[in-house]
Amino acid sequence: PPNKSRRYKIASIPADGIGPEVVSAAIDVVSKLAKTLKTFTIEFTHIPWGTAYYKKTGAYADENVLDVLRSYDAALFGSVGAPDVPDHISLWGLLLAIRGPLQLYANVRPVRTFPGTQSPLRTVGAKGIDWLLVRENSEGEYAGHGGRSHRGQTWETATEVAIFTYTGIERIMRFAFTAAQTRPRKFLTVVTKSNSMRNGMVLWDEVALKVSKDFPDVNWDKMLVDAMTVRMVNQPDSLDTIVGTNLHMDILSDLAAALAGSIGVAPSSNLDPTRKNPSLFEPVHGSAFDITGKGVANPVATFWSAAEMLAWLGEEEAKEKLMGCVERVCEAGVLTRDLGGTASTKDVTKAVCDEIELLG
Ligand code: ATP
Ligand code: MG
Repeated sequence: PPNKSRRYKIASIPADGIGPEVVSAAIDVVSKLAKTLKTFTIEFTHIPWGTAYYKKTGAYADENVLDVLRSYDAALFGSVGAPDVPDHISLWGLLLAIRGPLQLYANVRPVRTFPGTQSPLRTVGAKGIDWLLVRENSEGEYAGHGGRSHRGQTWETATEVAIFTYTGIERIMRFAFTAAQTRPRKFLTVVTKSNSMRNGMVLWDEVALKVSKDFPDVNWDKMLVDAMTVRMVNQPDSLDTIVGTNLHMDILSDLAAALAGSIGVAPSSNLDPTRKNPSLFEPVHGSAFDITGKGVANPVATFWSAAEMLAWLGEEEAKEKLMGCVERVCEAGVLTRDLGGTASTKDVTKAVCDEIELLG
């Protein structure tokens, strides 16, 4: 239940690459917002987990990672991964070590073309997009089941078993139908691959049909994931809320972010909809080592993630105000390189803080 005292304690885990740059920008912006609105207070505590921590201690995070996070209302995450550590080690060492045990089973990724920015989809006549992507975040293809036998031999075999449970599918379907219901178009597309995957994906389809009966006011359809990529590009206006598996939505959300204008504006929420555990908010993008330390990372994805965090904590109005400020800054043309501008991370951060100042 939203915290009545309206005093929030947030774990800040900037981790690797541009993570520290965009998270510190978001902390500046949210702290400024709290000081200006005076309707809530927020305190960020820095947690040093990530690749530097791993190189020092041999582990990406403390063993008691869950107990640590449970003492906060939410976590704001940057990104994990470094060029000299295999991605599967860093990812499982930190992000997946948090998501699974905390049962953050709903990964919500709104995607929108900001005012003043351009979507590559203008070539098909679309002004821009406004979608809500819901990714199953706890099982499926990333369940981590499988193994390798005959290591190092030419007959080595590896299995990567996707796990789909009725419970896992039902809860994400219910979440997605509910999310679709709260949006003006009340329209959901269920992504599947039940033509070639005849077990898990068929169960997925069956559960979608069953859950849909409880949402008579939501229109929905079903798309095979391959055809879905085409529809996202050719008929973007035909889509609104989209739900799919861990793997499918991982891929489709990168596509969606690029179609909206840049991965630098795409936020994500890792939610425990039961609210038993703190939820985690992070930009969709990775650690982007090609631009790390150059001061040019787009902080908007992390601003928006922090805004979603505020809404999840019950501060819906603060979220709307913050997003309004971000939109005005984009519209005024204060854009980073990925959006065709020349502004630095600091320029964008300062411009948003100046907009916030005007709210006071
Ligand atoms: P990871 O493995 O951590 O997901 P990645 O290499 O797959 O990393 P990203 O780190 O997301 O991918 O980067 C993909 C591209 O997008 C890079 O060229 C990067 O510079 C660019 N990019 C990512 N995030 C931002 C951002 N916030 N602002 C500007 N450019 C970005
Ligand atoms: Mg990536």
